[in-house]
Amino acid sequence: SNANLFAALRAAFPADLDACAIECADGDALSYSWRDIERATAMLANLLLSLELPAGSRIAVQTEKSVEALMLYLAVLRAGYVYLPLNTAYQAAELEYFIANAEPAVLVCAGKHFGWASKLAFQAGCQYVFTLNEDRTGSLLDRASFMSDQHEIAAKRSDDLAAILYTSGTTGRSKGAMLSHGNLLSNARTLKDYWGWQPGDVLIHALPIFHVHGLFIASHGALLNGSKMIWFSRFEPRAVIARFAEASVFMGVPTLYVRMLAEAALTREACAPMRLFISGSAPLLIETFRDWQQRSGHTILERYGMSETLMLTSNPYEDMERVGGTVGFALPGVGVRVHNDAGELCAADEIGHIEVRGPNVFAGYWRMPEKTREEFTADGWFKTGDVGKQDARGYFHIVGRSKDLIISGGYNVYPAEIEGWLNEMPGVAESAVVGVPHPDFGEAVIAVLVARPGAAPEPAALIAALKSKIANFKVPKQVFVVKELPRNAMGKVQKNLLRDQHRGLFA
Ligand code: ATP
Ligand code: MG
Repeated sequence: SNANLFAALRAAFPADLDACAIECADGDALSYSWRDIERATAMLANLLLSLELPAGSRIAVQTEKSVEALMLYLAVLRAGYVYLPLNTAYQAAELEYFIANAEPAVLVCAGKHFGWASKLAFQAGCQYVFTLNEDRTGSLLDRASFMSDQHEIAAKRSDDLAAILYTSGTTGRSKGAMLSHGNLLSNARTLKDYWGWQPGDVLIHALPIFHVHGLFIASHGALLNGSKMIWFSRFEPRAVIARFAEASVFMGVPTLYVRMLAEAALTREACAPMRLFISGSAPLLIETFRDWQQRSGHTILERYGMSETLMLTSNPYEDMERVGGTVGFALPGVGVRVHNDAGELCAADEIGHIEVRGPNVFAGYWRMPEKTREEFTADGWFKTGDVGKQDARGYFHIVGRSKDLIISGGYNVYPAEIEGWLNEMPGVAESAVVGVPHPDFGEAVIAVLVARPGAAPEPAALIAALKSKIANFKVPKQVFVVKELPRNAMGKVQKNLLRDQHRGLFA
């Protein structure tokens, strides 16, 4: 049978193809039926086929979030090519890297970027550049409108490449993770069961679709359940809260929860119709977890995953507690283990390197065989680069990234622990702890933090307070108060920038 992911998604469409599949909450509030998805993806797939591209061709897409862009993703699956989404924030120099690295046969970009983007693309050997704008204009849809709306889904094997997803670039240059139809489908099926997707569910989709969270986890979740999506092309907290009345599932990165908590409209009543709130992509502060519980009456379900592996662990949906500050249990079929530096498996609560395997784990980094080899163990587990532990009850905790681990005077310092202490102190909204070069200690711990509105926390007082709580080698030698922490497009704190900025502090 056909292992094409699109075939599985298509099979889950409801019997009534005229029912609403996607309702836009912003823009001109259009609605799309399941039949619209079927027809548009067929026409777009036929357009791609008409170009007679070689097998395995990459279709690179850098457009604003739109339902048509989602259709294009589905059409690329359907036609059997490789989808390559690009962050809309990327500028010319960044796009140049991705295009040179991925060598796409087709680029789809916003009309306003056509000039420089097409020049870059053609220079790199790309054959076709189409435009797609937020208002559904552009050459892509113009050309597709002449195509037949009948298309037979391309036959694919489970290990055929479906997408190349570039990592967020939080720790350095983005790497292209090669994901197969089987990776994507197995993970989508596991999550459908684990998160209890049920008939009548409606998803609020308010995440970008160039990243694993919005493109795969959210969209596949709804599509594989035949569920309607309420579609936000941009996250707008008050407008999202207003739609909870008609929805049941919401997925967000932590900053979306923080922004909704700042709205008076976020009440128990407003959230009562909802079934499930899911958070991931970055650590959810325990404070956000608690505030959300109090204000909404719901317990956020936090899960953990990455571009290379899709979802790995999740807090339970039912029967057991969702524990704040943890990322729950390994998903069914996914192996998760923690290794220490001595190469042994860690005991309960012992911190080490997280390694994983399973049908969800990618085939490797695009055109980086060396890097791929380095990131897999001899027995075939993928080294996530995340540091964490499994507690006695089996819940996994992420304490940071191995690249962010600080070794000061020979002692390991886990930034997340110090950040946890700092965040609990009066006047502190959030913090980032990093290591910078130090002549005596190798690395010294420093903290950069953001004050609560109206508060002016005193660095010296914070340092003194920490000294009474934790070992001296963990206490930041200096604390800086800033307006905001540097974040990438996914809202992740870019510690490499903080390290660079403070590199000369003790040197
Ligand atoms: P790059 O690999 O390019 O440096 P990135 O790792 O941020 O960027 P992604 O694949 O988008 O790129 O993010 C995966 C990472 O996000 C994980 O390895 C982990 O560090 C972090 N992450 C995801 N979910 C959680 C979570 N619930 N709690 C803590 N960290 C999380
Ligand atoms: Mg990563």
